Amino acid sequence: MSRTTPNALAMLRELIAAPSISSTTPQWDQSNLAVIEHLHTWLDGLGFNCEVMPVPGEKNKANLIATLGSGSGGLVLSGHTDTVPCDPELWLSDPFRMVERDQRLYGLGTCDMKGFLALAIEAAKEFADQPLKQPLIILATADEESSMSGARALAEAGKPKARAAIIGEPSSLRPVRMHKGMMMEAVRIEGRAGHSSDPSLGANALDAMHGVLNELSAFRQELKERHRNSHFRVDYPTMNFGCIHGGDNPNRICGQCELEFDLRPLPGMTMEGLRDAISERLLPLGERFGVKLEARSLFPGIPPFENPETQGLVALAEKLTGHTSEAVAFGTEAPFLQGLGMDTIVMGPGSIDQAHQPDEFLALDQIQPTLDILKQMITRYCL
Ligand SMILES: [Zn+2]
Repeated sequence: MSRTTPNALAMLRELIAAPSISSTTPQWDQSNLAVIEHLHTWLDGLGFNCEVMPVPGEKNKANLIATLGSGSGGLVLSGHTDTVPCDPELWLSDPFRMVERDQRLYGLGTCDMKGFLALAIEAAKEFADQPLKQPLIILATADEESSMSGARALAEAGKPKARAAIIGEPSSLRPVRMHKGMMMEAVRIEGRAGHSSDPSLGANALDAMHGVLNELSAFRQELKERHRNSHFRVDYPTMNFGCIHGGDNPNRICGQCELEFDLRPLPGMTMEGLRDAISERLLPLGERFGVKLEARSLFPGIPPFENPETQGLVALAEKLTGHTSEAVAFGTEAPFLQGLGMDTIVMGPGSIDQAHQPDEFLALDQIQPTLDILKQMITRYCL
């Protein structure tokens, strides 16, 4: 068995030095293949069976499924390979060069979440020579920060499968068993422009949008009254009107208007149900205002997530960390892995406060506890 796999910090340094920004803005979007390549080499060296899975419809993006041992059951340790874009001007040091200062490792992706991938491999090292009863799977995904196309491709392919999955998003090593979903939706209204002096000459898209905003506000209020979950700081589903564009002149009947908004459903609510309810409410407005009205989704959305099984992985994670499981305000790949039948939690080193920020860091004091917890998890699920 190869013993050439570098130590955790050396691995992390190389991962940080391999830019892998994902973005829905094409000029910022980068390949993640360099990161996948590093992970592949190191895991291969430890005896993992590696499958590089190209993400359909994406150029230069792939997931990696690395499996040690075989059979059913076992444990998945999952991390995304991509980072958000960054503005190096706002950083004290180069975001793509890992530097240590003040007991912290700075670099883009140190906490969100290349750090977890390096630590998962480090934790796996001591199991590389042991016969595992159930497999240990290290999963590295593409495009979590943008389209979640990597997780969608896994869901589509129906793999990997295991008994349990830990997604190492930064949670300060506290187990997370629920989060809200995230949807981004748009309503486009096509009216008819005309001279403002005679309203009968056109169909005003802004008037129709006023009707849309009224309907959506009423719907938002209903959602708030009907759905509560006290685990969340904001304990109701939210809807935010984010931007609106329409019209060009005060003395022209507004011919076109588009609204974009987001919706954050609580666990138990479905995205399909919400989209149907919105369409049902809005479509009659087209006829009422004499305009063409179209509701669409800006991306497929991230479903809300809740692990209702509190006796398995949740209980073990609570015991090992000494923290009660929590609800968080950010979306993850958890609903996709849970959809594959795995008992799933989110738990990883570093704080979400540092994610997506200049001078992102992973505190050194997170490293040993992460390794200890992961080794205990692997022992429990795989040995
Ligand atoms: Zn992340």
